[in-house]
Amino acid sequence: MNAQQTTSTMGSARNRRSSYGQRRDSNVVEIKNARRLMNSRTVERVAEARLPTDFGEFRILGYRALNSNEEFVVLVQGELRKDRPTLVRVHSQCLTGDVFGSTKCDCGQQLRKAMELIEREGSGAIVYQQQEGRGIGIINKIRAYALQDQGADTIEANEKLGLAVDLRSYEQCAEILRHLGVNSVRLMSNNPEKIRALEEMGLKVVERVSLVTVPTDAARSYLRTKKEKLGHLLEIV
Ligand SMILES: [Zn+2]
Repeated sequence: MNAQQTTSTMGSARNRRSSYGQRRDSNVVEIKNARRLMNSRTVERVAEARLPTDFGEFRILGYRALNSNEEFVVLVQGELRKDRPTLVRVHSQCLTGDVFGSTKCDCGQQLRKAMELIEREGSGAIVYQQQEGRGIGIINKIRAYALQDQGADTIEANEKLGLAVDLRSYEQCAEILRHLGVNSVRLMSNNPEKIRALEEMGLKVVERVSLVTVPTDAARSYLRTKKEKLGHLLEIV
């Protein structure tokens, strides 16, 4: 990171703060913002340390958005180079799956698989985005689970609660990757929306590395809904 660069772009990021609150109002606004983001700095790295894990030694980086309260955690292993595609996962926080080992979804399995693949490759990055439950927050996610207990699928549950199906936006994750010196990626994802967002932000997605997990019976219907209603690229359900 270049300190001078950060200072010179921080002012403009602050000025744009007001427009960001409404960035999901329409696709047009979103695309305009994405273009603006491509040429600007809206995140900064604020902390970095060593993180030994069950899957090998990583560096853990803390990033903060300059235009909201959002924080990002990045795990990096090895050297990230501009001239070589980087193995990348953009992972959205799933407390129930990542921490508690919930079998309602396969998020935890995907995260661990991504760490394993990076360890095997010797380099790569995971951008961990703290947007629980596709952005609705943990409490609403528990409410949605309650509706699912009564038979609703993941999309119907959100709709019954009057919540958007997916509130996430990946632009700042892409910005972080660019900040880390990544130009092109081999993306570990089944979500076409993530591929689209990274490409819109100027990252080349040269390959999609599918994270094949073995779904439990409970996760199978959740994954089928993601495949059929959200267009996720899954072959196993
Ligand atoms: Zn999950």
